[in-house]
Amino acid sequence: MKQEYHRFYKDTREEKEKKRRAAGKRNRARQRMERLMTVGIVGICAIVVIFALIISIRHFYLQRKRNEEPVTEEVLVIPPLAGVAEQFPDLPITEEFLTVNPYSRPGLALSATPQYIVIHYTANPGSTARENRNYFENLKDTEETYASAQFVIGLEGEIIQCVPCNEIAYCSNNLNDVCISIELCHPDESGSFNDATYNNCVYLVAKLMNYYHLDMEHLIRHYDVTGKNCPKYFVEHEDRWQVFKGFVEEYRQKYQEE
Ligand SMILES: [Zn+2]
Repeated sequence: MKQEYHRFYKDTREEKEKKRRAAGKRNRARQRMERLMTVGIVGICAIVVIFALIISIRHFYLQRKRNEEPVTEEVLVIPPLAGVAEQFPDLPITEEFLTVNPYSRPGLALSATPQYIVIHYTANPGSTARENRNYFENLKDTEETYASAQFVIGLEGEIIQCVPCNEIAYCSNNLNDVCISIELCHPDESGSFNDATYNNCVYLVAKLMNYYHLDMEHLIRHYDVTGKNCPKYFVEHEDRWQVFKGFVEEYRQKYQEE
């Protein structure tokens, strides 16, 4: 009985030891699992934090780059200009606007701020600026054709403005509603110009182009619109046209510095 008891006792002890070992094993497995889970959660958190950091750094740099970028699309506001005598007081300009009529001054606004300055010659040798202006004015009665220009520059360099700069004149065909046309008087059939006419044309064009912020590509001849031999001298002498444009460019810069 004593022996049996001892055995039983012994069995129980071994059993207990076995159980203890098994429990220890389970414990270790659980701890291992817990460690793994902790590492996993910390890892995921770290990844999330790193992503958040990358996104905010990227956002910060993009924002800074946007702020550093120069504003290229500047909105240019050009007040509409009708008469220019007051605007350019150092030029001999007389405003003698035509009567509003269907043949030479339709009284219609340009569709936009003037985009082109178009140069013409009167094709009427020896005629004065006033004669040309009166010819346009009389079209309202003669009704013989549609013609006019915003400006006529005479043989003495006198400048007559016939049509306001923000209104359509009938001179440059399909560009009529976006341009300012200038008629130049000339002494003879060759179509070449007096110095006075030529110089005042350079000054007027330079001032108009500065006012409307036009680049040199937007100074053109009637010839460039329709292929018509106008202004004759500048069509037949391309080099002279380039020289004229050179003077305009020079005076534009000069006026800008003033
Ligand atoms: Zn013309």
